[in-house]
Amino acid sequence: MARTRLPNEAPARAEANGYRRGYHRETDRLTGIKQYGEKELKAQDFILDLYVTWCWKYGTDEQDGKPPAPVDRDSVRASVLRKGAPAPLTVDIKDFLRFYVKQSKGRINTYSSVKSVLKQAEPFFKGFARVTGTLTVEEEKSEVYKWVKRVLPTEGDTINQCLPKHNFGQPDLDRILLALWTRSDLKYHERYKIQFTFLIHTYCWTGARINAFFKGGLRYKDIHLVLRRRAGGHGSELIWKIDQRWVKNNRNPNTVVFSAAGKEHSRLLYNDGAMLLTLASADKALFGFDSLEDLWQQEIPPGETHVVLRWKESVEELPILRQIKKGIVTEDPWLLSSFTAMFREVLDIEGYSSGAGVHQIRRDLGKKVDRDYTEVERSQHILQSDPRIFGQSYVANTSSVDGQAAFLQETADHSVIEYFQGLEQFREPGAPIRLPKAMKADLEKDPEVVALQERASTASDSRERDEARKARERLLKRLEHRAFISFRHRWTRERRDWKILTRGKVSSEVDTDNGRLILLIPERARIADKMKRESGLTMNEMRDATRDLLTLCTRDYTVFFRPGEEPINGLCPVCNREMHTIEKRYRSDHIHGCCKKERANEIGQKVSCLRYCYDCMEWYVQGSEWDEHCQRHLSDLPKILGTMTYCSTLIKPAFCPFHLATNLPASERMQSWERDADALRHMKNEHLGKVNWPSAICCDKELEDEQSFYYHLSDCHGYSLQSLNATRKRKRQDDGTGQAKKKRKGGEEEEEEEKVKEEKYCEVPAGERALTVTRREADPTLPVINGDDTSRCSTNSRQAFTDAHALLDGAPHFRRAMSLCSSVDGDSERLGDYGFEPTDCFISRYVNPSPSPTPSKCPEIYGPKSQDPDCFISHFVKLPPPSPTPPAKDEHEAPLNRSLATTDRSIIQASIEGSYSNTSDSRNPKGPRIKLKLNHRPPKIILRLGEPSKDRRRAGKRQGGSKRRGKA
Ligand SMILES: [Zn+2]
Ligand SMILES: [Zn+2]
Ligand SMILES: [Zn+2]
Ligand SMILES: [Zn+2]
Repeated sequence: MARTRLPNEAPARAEANGYRRGYHRETDRLTGIKQYGEKELKAQDFILDLYVTWCWKYGTDEQDGKPPAPVDRDSVRASVLRKGAPAPLTVDIKDFLRFYVKQSKGRINTYSSVKSVLKQAEPFFKGFARVTGTLTVEEEKSEVYKWVKRVLPTEGDTINQCLPKHNFGQPDLDRILLALWTRSDLKYHERYKIQFTFLIHTYCWTGARINAFFKGGLRYKDIHLVLRRRAGGHGSELIWKIDQRWVKNNRNPNTVVFSAAGKEHSRLLYNDGAMLLTLASADKALFGFDSLEDLWQQEIPPGETHVVLRWKESVEELPILRQIKKGIVTEDPWLLSSFTAMFREVLDIEGYSSGAGVHQIRRDLGKKVDRDYTEVERSQHILQSDPRIFGQSYVANTSSVDGQAAFLQETADHSVIEYFQGLEQFREPGAPIRLPKAMKADLEKDPEVVALQERASTASDSRERDEARKARERLLKRLEHRAFISFRHRWTRERRDWKILTRGKVSSEVDTDNGRLILLIPERARIADKMKRESGLTMNEMRDATRDLLTLCTRDYTVFFRPGEEPINGLCPVCNREMHTIEKRYRSDHIHGCCKKERANEIGQKVSCLRYCYDCMEWYVQGSEWDEHCQRHLSDLPKILGTMTYCSTLIKPAFCPFHLATNLPASERMQSWERDADALRHMKNEHLGKVNWPSAICCDKELEDEQSFYYHLSDCHGYSLQSLNATRKRKRQDDGTGQAKKKRKGGEEEEEEEKVKEEKYCEVPAGERALTVTRREADPTLPVINGDDTSRCSTNSRQAFTDAHALLDGAPHFRRAMSLCSSVDGDSERLGDYGFEPTDCFISRYVNPSPSPTPSKCPEIYGPKSQDPDCFISHFVKLPPPSPTPPAKDEHEAPLNRSLATTDRSIIQASIEGSYSNTSDSRNPKGPRIKLKLNHRPPKIILRLGEPSKDRRRAGKRQGGSKRRGKA
């Protein structure tokens, strides 16, 4: 029954709510004006702007095709696009579209295709009507469309051709997901992998457009979770509804959504439920459940079939798919570009040479849905209601009909069609994923690039220089992409030819060593195993997998610790040092070092005798044990010979191809380096000089010269050539600057960056093994601590420590020099036992250009965090008990210019220099001091050790005695 109201009641209520008579008169007068979406408006504005340019430059026919008297572009715009401006003549529109074609760049051809011209004509008419209010007559429009379709292509500039259309089907999905979860050369944060898997599933099941989950992000409120009793009545499973808010032309994304249902799958490869649950659990998003176990204990009340779950209110607006920056999951929605790049990379690595995108997925789903559902159902599911467009853009070029079977009335075989519709035909396993280094280097010789380079170097001001540089970068990128596409094309063709010529007897090009990292992480190994399984998992297996996924997703990836070397409660398991007091990139090395020492103690061996196998993650004793062990690995050496790091931790050292090819004992052949730069330097010093180019060093491949060898190392064996390039650059710069200078700073002599000096050999002291003296060039590519860390220990070169250890272990006469200052002077402090006082130890860091020449007390040693002098000693100085050195005559100033490398085969190329001074001045109140320098690379490490007074004499003598230097 209708409610009766007083006549005044309704107006009073409306006015109270803000109604004003005639307030919107102006806008309400307009009729027939469509509301356009953001994208449409952009397209209209683009083409109208171009139209204004055309009018401004060439004039319309109304003015006899002559540009009007010099007018600025703005007034042309004001005139041709004014309210009520007359519609342009058809002849003008045609001319304008010709202009559009000639200035365009096509994807397939030189110019835009017919399709893209048509795509411009429509927004032009619509935009013109919107801006001027003048509608173009329908006949004129259709005349223009027809002209574009039929006349324009005959003139040759624009052709009626589209990119071939293919589908992304189930085999492709399987392949990329397996690659993602089983290959270790795809280094993504585990959460990204989970997000990617979930999203690609969702695209495959829903056929959503790519923007659907990116424009405003997929938020928790867009998914409605329900727990349902399993079909057998045993346990429960997740089902959900996912809302697409960012659907094409949806102008009210906040209220209007398009939903699709989802459910779990028994194969892990297809189970987006497990992915969703992992993400939700990592975000602690479910109301009432703190953990997976809590959720799994949830029962469905007797007699009921469903339990509706909900999100915590605090997470409703939180995007499910998020960005990860520097290993930290942010609250920002995942970027489309990041997803597509990942998609692209996985496809590349699986050998797909054709691009694939979400639209191919959509097309494939559309085809399959079309087979089993009505047109209405299809258009609702994939949100494309226009059957004309579906027929045009959603059907692959190859017909879906098995004509032969239809004609012969046999059962249709669609596998053939699927092959030709799909992407499989473009796949060539092992196809290159990047341009070879040599070809990349050639691009720099492109005349256009050279011209830009010249412009940059001759630019008068910095802005011009920057612009030229940026333009060069852009050009290089473009050239590189083009070169890569044609290179891969050529490679694929050659490979296919080779298969034919060898009658199919070819070895696989696929690198089989890509699972290595997976094995290091048990969760990843288990997940990889379950992903591969073709049968369904049991409920418990799936739960285990979900737990593993959650562990992977939430683990701290700042540092990876080798198995058995994980910190316990944030402490080093050996020395109990707090991990957070060590810089991230040295944490695993610290524990590694501690474990080494512990192990050496256990088995009563010297630390320097231990060798670590990065494959087995085990320690071995140098000698026959290590040799036997290496022998086992020699047979299945990976193709990658360069180093591999994972989360700041070295997981594979670099090997030398020359050494590997020799007949030496296995341990020598498998000599390894912790940095590519060191291995490269070794090759340069030891082998490359003896090679007669061209030569086949490895891979049975003839290499022309040293440079092509380096390129081969990089392309084929995963070496990083960064240090090589940097060294060259530095050398070039140095040429102009001349010699290194010595500088006086604060009264103390300090050397600036040492410039390259040739290798020198010093005479071998009697009774000692040969020592190579290498003063190495500071390596500018090495990471240095930036900022205000004058107070920090200069531990920023991981290698420096390793080198220092080895150096001291393997350099007996250095130890002797050290022992001079190690006599005990009764101090109860442990450091005193070694002859030092805390204040005697300084470590300074020298960075080029040195920002902080002030030596600082190293907190690593004496800072509040560590009161442990052993730390210093063990890091730098291993002292044997003081040796009785016969006293000899005094020398007042005796530089101990001993630079040495270890005699051990790994030729560690650092040097130690010492100088002795017994002058006592204001800067040196303590009297005689020994200064020891570890010349490694920036930072140089300088230890200044005060010498206990008792041993002054002997110290002076000893150093003086051992300072003779020879020449190479
Ligand atoms: Zn430790
Ligand atoms: Zn091993
Ligand atoms: Zn070698
Ligand atoms: Zn090779």
